[in-house]
Amino acid sequence: MSQNEEHYDYSLKSYSDTLVRYREDGYAVTGFGQYLAEPTAKHLILRHDIDNSIEQAHRVAKIDAEADCTSTFFMRVHARGYNLLSLPSLLILREIESMGHEVQLHLEGGFCEWLGDDNFYWAERQREVFEAAVGRPLGGFSSHEPARMGGIEFANELLSRWQEDVKYHAYEERFMMPNMKYLSDSSGRWREGHFGMWVGKEPLMQVLTHPFWWFDKVPAENY
Ligand SMILES: [Zn+2]
Repeated sequence: MSQNEEHYDYSLKSYSDTLVRYREDGYAVTGFGQYLAEPTAKHLILRHDIDNSIEQAHRVAKIDAEADCTSTFFMRVHARGYNLLSLPSLLILREIESMGHEVQLHLEGGFCEWLGDDNFYWAERQREVFEAAVGRPLGGFSSHEPARMGGIEFANELLSRWQEDVKYHAYEERFMMPNMKYLSDSSGRWREGHFGMWVGKEPLMQVLTHPFWWFDKVPAENY
């Protein structure tokens, strides 16, 4: 165990210290849109999938900005934990964007299995609701539980149908290995170690976090 390893936990302190270390090591840390517009030789795309709580997204957005980083927040429209069209949500979306972050759609599947039609039909409906909430065209999306809606192939097909406005989806080959080191805290477990252990090791990275797993003092803050 290295001397710092005990520091690599799910505390927001550990999270924010890690972002600062990436910045000090010369990485640009940005969302997808900024990466596509101005890629740099050392670039970390910071992605947050917001499964349950928009307040948790808001908290992480402030930490990212304080660490001189921007990121992309992917928001659901079918979440039980938040309503993207509620006034508190609209205020948070506006504030997140005013910090320089990007807000896009966390797209989900499976509704067709119960309610009929297919995943493309439900994707169109999600896009319409998302665009009503943000007041502009959708620019990108990430898949929630990708296996439930035909995996990467479905996302690629949807991207080609939507290509007029939508510039990317988060699991495209260009954002994944071997083109880019991909690390995720899915299920509260870094399969290849906390992202703090990767500073300086790979020039191009996509790091996915779910703010649900990150806490200030104790995990029970979040549920
Ligand atoms: Zn998700």
